Order: sequence, then structure tokens, then C-alpha cells
Amino acid sequence: MSGAAGKIEVPAGARVFVHQAFTCCPYAAMITAKIHDYFEQNGCTISDHPEEAAISVINTCGFNASRSEQALRSIRAIRKRAPTSPLVIAGCLTRIERGRVQEALEGVPAWVMIGPGEHGTFDDLLASAVLQFDEVQSNLYKDRYSSGDPRLGLYQVLVSTGCLNTCSYCVIRQAKGTVSSKPIEQVVAEVERGLELGHRDVFLVGDDISSYGGDLGVDVVQLLDRLTRGGGEGRFSAEAFEPSRFIAHLDGLLPVFERDRFSWIVLPAQSGSDRVLEAMNRSYTVADVRDAVARLKQAAPGMIVSTDFIFGFAGETAEEFEASIDLASVFDYANFNDYEPRPGTPDIEIAAEEMERRKAVVNALLRKQGGQVQVLTRNRSVVCDWWKDGDSPMVGRRAPTRWAVESARRLETMVEAGGAALASGWSVTRLKADLDRVMLLATHEDRDDVMEFMVVRRDEKAPCMAFSDDYNLTLVSDEAVDRPDEERMAALDALVDLLGMRC
Ligand code: SF4
Repeated sequence: MSGAAGKIEVPAGARVFVHQAFTCCPYAAMITAKIHDYFEQNGCTISDHPEEAAISVINTCGFNASRSEQALRSIRAIRKRAPTSPLVIAGCLTRIERGRVQEALEGVPAWVMIGPGEHGTFDDLLASAVLQFDEVQSNLYKDRYSSGDPRLGLYQVLVSTGCLNTCSYCVIRQAKGTVSSKPIEQVVAEVERGLELGHRDVFLVGDDISSYGGDLGVDVVQLLDRLTRGGGEGRFSAEAFEPSRFIAHLDGLLPVFERDRFSWIVLPAQSGSDRVLEAMNRSYTVADVRDAVARLKQAAPGMIVSTDFIFGFAGETAEEFEASIDLASVFDYANFNDYEPRPGTPDIEIAAEEMERRKAVVNALLRKQGGQVQVLTRNRSVVCDWWKDGDSPMVGRRAPTRWAVESARRLETMVEAGGAALASGWSVTRLKADLDRVMLLATHEDRDDVMEFMVVRRDEKAPCMAFSDDYNLTLVSDEAVDRPDEERMAALDALVDLLGMRC
């Protein structure tokens, strides 16, 4: 257990508020779903409001600075709404920035931190539990928490956590430790259960699947061979394989991929420069990666091989950055993350303007990869067919999208925590999901005046008044734009703060 204060006892049948303070991490989103299922399957009710709940559980991520801030903001917001409620803080941030989490919990009557691999602690909180946490089977995201995640609806099987590597930029290892693998037959049983339930796409998840089995005396070749031997209906995709261990097993893996049961794998190259790879403590070369992708394409021409890059690490030069852009072209698509220093990792050595220039280059590349970036992870085997036809099925919807509904709920939490008042007599009086956006209305207490705002999914290219990692905020009511008086400006600034955004 990563720390506790006071005693938490969740009564049988209690109402429990569960909050996911991030987007994007396959592992953690599954843990949120499992926490939800654990309490529900043990007779508790999942509440929409922390004020009504016996406890609040917040699942966190610490992968980068912005996710940490998002998690700490959520803790503060939920504390404001339910000041006496016991709090359970789960997830990687409890390990990566434990001190800051503890600070945010100061004054909370009872709290407990539950880090990765410590989920058995939930059984200590719920004395009436008939099902232990580890017995709960959760293989699907919940749209309540992951509505905006393109992996929603995919059947997921966690094969391992942690890894055997020591990449110098990484904090995941700090949070999860060395590899902990699920026995092969347990993975096979979970996959078969998914196929029996009618799922045809199985997504294998692990921080580094190449490290699989290092703690069990088996390896990734044995796992994937067992899953694909003898044919069968399901198709697989897998995220992610650290290249040096993947390449060490490649001779054994190629015959497995030749069975054409994999739609997609993720092989994070991270850099197109051998000097930067060395600084990252990644023990392979760019030539190794090129060779591995070429051999994969030969063995499984229909399989999508995608990758991740980090740019701006270890004083990466403009030429080294260009080398990553160049290496990206050997993959079906590449995802790029700008390097953000984390506790215990090197500082950034590149000027902010140069990072902005590189972000622009990266965005241009992602745009060139087109709509497929959005749909690629939605339903992989189907997407592979669309990919081949170069056609994108994304169409509009009449009813608010799940993303809009979920975002409206999150923004509402922030607005309510701040009390909805802005400045100079202005306050937020309406907030609702509308198609694929959230609309906010601010009115003035003394005069017949309104300002209308639109919140959409973050797009770095699109002009906006303010933004956060997930959203763009735009002022849409013309007169406010045309005649911004001082009071309005104060109210606009207050709204930006309230929503945790920046200009
Ligand atoms: S393989 Fe992945 S999880 Fe492991 S240390 Fe490297 S980046 Fe971190």
C-alpha cells in the first residue's frame, strides 16, 4: 500500500463515486473499469456525484506533467464537492509523485493510496466483498470513463505489467517496477472467454510485451505461439513491444506473424538517432529497427506496424529530429510525443520555440497520415480493410457523442467545484453536450447580456481562445468578441482558470 491515513470501511451496498482523471493509457483505463466492476459486483452502487457517495475513488496517471496536473486538480475538485468523504487514490501517480498527492490530501479525514499491483487493498476496504478484486474479470473500457478513447469496445487482455528495461526518460518503470506476467494458460482462458462472448478483435496490453514471461521462465514467443497455434477466429493486436527484446525474439516471432492472425502491433522506435537511443538507454540501433520492420512486412504484409517517437530528448539536434521523421516513413503510422521531464528523468535542453517548431512539423506529418490516425484504433481488423481502401468512415451524429456527454460531465465537475461564479457579475449558467462539442453559457447578474462558449476536442492547429490537453475553448457570441470590455475580459480569464486551461 502506498500510504494511508484514518480508517476506511465501505459499508455493504454503499454508493461509490469513481473518477478517471486522464485519457489515453490502455492499462489504467482497464483498471478504472475493473474498480467500477469490483464495487458493482459486490453490491455497491456507482454514484454520479461524490457528495452522495460513501467514498470517492480517483484513478490517476503520471506519464507526463499534464496528466499529473489533471489528477491533482481532480482530487481538489472532488474534495471541494465532498469535503468529508474518504478518498481512495489509485494509479501510477501514487508512486511517481506520491509527495504531491499526499499534499493534495492534507486535511482529508481518511484516505488511502493504492499503487499498481496493490489492488488487493480494495478488499480491505470492503469487508462485505464476496468477490476479491483479483477475481473480477474486466476486459472492456466503460464509456462512462473512456468515451473519447478510440479503443472503446475493443476486448482487451492485460498480459503483463512493468518491464525488464531501464529507459532513461521513463517513469512507468518507477510506478510499475519489473515485469509481472499473467501465466500463459490464464491469458488463453481470458482470450477464449472473449471469443465466446462474440468478440473477434482481441487487444493484448502490456507496458512491454517483449519482456513477457521474464518472471515465469517463459517468453513472448511461447505466449503468441500458444494464442495463434491451430487457427481460430479471433484476430489480435498488441501494444507495445520494446524493440531490443523484440528483435532478440524475432526469429521465433516471424513464423507466428506468418499465420496472419495479427492485425496490428506497436513497436516504439522512440528515435531515429543512434546517439539519442543511447541517451535513452535503449539498446538497439536505427538499422536494427529498419531491418526488423522489413522482415515483419515480408512475413505479414497485411499487418499494420505502428510506432511511437519521443522528440526533444537529450539535446536532440534538428538533424536528429529529422532522422526520426525519416524513420517514421518505414511504419504504417507513427505517433509522436514531445518529451516532458518527469521526477528522476533528465531535464529538457531544447528551447521552447524550437519545440513549437518541431510540434508543427509533427502535426503536419500526422495530418498527412490523415483521418486514419483517428479511426485506426477503433476496430483494428475492420480498419485494416478501410486502410487498404484509403477510405475513412467517420461521419457526424445527431445525438451528442459519448465524448461530448463525458466531457460535459467533467467540465461540470470543474465548474461546480469553482462555484460557477466568474468575475464582475458574470457566472456560468448553462453547460450542455451538443453533437460533438460542449456549449457553455455565461450570463451577467445585472444586465441582459450573455457570452456563449464552445468546447471541442483539442486540436493544436485550430484557432481557439484557450486550451488544455484535451480541449479547445472558443468564444462564439459575436458581440462579446467585437466589444470586449474590461468586465468581460475579467470573466474570460476567470473561466479559463476555472476549466484548468491556458491561453
Ligand atoms: S520499456 Fe517502456 S515501460 Fe519499460 S522502461 Fe522502457 S519506456 Fe518504460
